[in-house]
Amino acid sequence: MKNLSILGSTGSIGVSTLELVAAHPDRFRVVALTAGANLELFARQIEAFRPRVVSVLNEELAGKLSRMLTGAKPEIMHGVPGLIAAATVTEARMVVAAIVGAAGLIPTAAAIMAGKDVALANKETLVCAGSLIMDLVRDHGVALYPVDSEHSAVFQSIEGHRSEDIEKIILTASGGPFLEWPSERMATVTIADALNHPNWSMGKKITIDSATMMNKGLEVIEARWLFDVPAAKIDVNIHPQSIIHSMVEYIDGCVIAQLGTPDMKAPIAYALSYPERVATGVTPLDLTRFSGLTFFKPDMEKFRCLKLAYDALESGPSMPAVMNAANEVAVAAFLEGRIAFSAIPRVIEETMMAHGAVALATIENVLHVDRWGRNKAAEVIGNYNGAP
Ligand code: NAD
Ligand code: MG
Repeated sequence: MKNLSILGSTGSIGVSTLELVAAHPDRFRVVALTAGANLELFARQIEAFRPRVVSVLNEELAGKLSRMLTGAKPEIMHGVPGLIAAATVTEARMVVAAIVGAAGLIPTAAAIMAGKDVALANKETLVCAGSLIMDLVRDHGVALYPVDSEHSAVFQSIEGHRSEDIEKIILTASGGPFLEWPSERMATVTIADALNHPNWSMGKKITIDSATMMNKGLEVIEARWLFDVPAAKIDVNIHPQSIIHSMVEYIDGCVIAQLGTPDMKAPIAYALSYPERVATGVTPLDLTRFSGLTFFKPDMEKFRCLKLAYDALESGPSMPAVMNAANEVAVAAFLEGRIAFSAIPRVIEETMMAHGAVALATIENVLHVDRWGRNKAAEVIGNYNGAP
């Protein structure tokens, strides 16, 4: 029996994780859950899975949740202390980090320092603090399993191989909803257009990141830290069918890829049950149904965010955290109708240009840089003065 603490259980990854737990009650038990503000769903999850500790965004929501629950109640916490308590709860062997954004950094670091294995969906943690987090993983002797489908594919494709034999990691990208749109038309993108992802159903932030291709940029940085491979050895191929989830090329010219129907339950299950495999209910892959699998190079001018992510890695320690902060602020502004889709990369680039990269020695340093990036990005948006 593996005891799990799931951070962000009401999100897209959180819900899929709980479906897997429900399908394998003999293998997994939930001991802690956290959510933001979706109390309806959270209350149902608590009644179904009976965790000992739960946490929500703030005190008011904690009070509301307490009144909604009937029968024996879990310990109800809130805010960052609540997230840390859930991430470090004694009974948990593994923490599923499925919060979105840099908000996942503190609890994920706390889980590692408490000696928990981590199933990591929250890629922003590695983007902001990759070097520090990988040091913590080593120092505390824990395992960090990727949940992101591309990184799970790489993880599965490098098992049993020597890292010095890797020539290149090739991350695949669907290209999102605007792959076929001519650049001129990008000025007309609406919120609904950007939320309409062709292959995956996900939370709003990552769906917008997929449309700008910042998601792939974040994943390049995530791969750099997870697999300790320099950016020059990480390529991106557009693969609109999302069947090959990523591949690893070796120095002898052999390429190993991992394939499957696009469904996050497969990579989540592998992170939960590694090194074993469990049934997931994912539709088996029938390659005869495809007339062809296609691949091509991304257009880094049209999808400027991908280029910015490579630039951020090159600029050094704090630039990826600033890029990530500016992206979170720009995506939120776009979703609130305050800036145009095409302004997202501009906000990020202007914020990055205003930042002089510094060393990041502690998680507190990262949080400081993250706050700086958020304030600067908000200022950049303010300067657009309603005319983005
Ligand atoms: P989501 O928006 O559906 O869910 C996010 C969860 O985090 C929710 O439970 C929400 O309540 C909680 N949350 C949000 N902000 C919070 C805060 N400030 N404090 C505490 N809790 C907070 O997101 P998602 O699509 O499930 O993605 C989660 C993470 O997994 C992201 O980092 C994303 O990049 C990554 N990921 C997602 C997918 C996918 O298919 N959805 C695939 C690969 C990686
Ligand atoms: Mg991914």
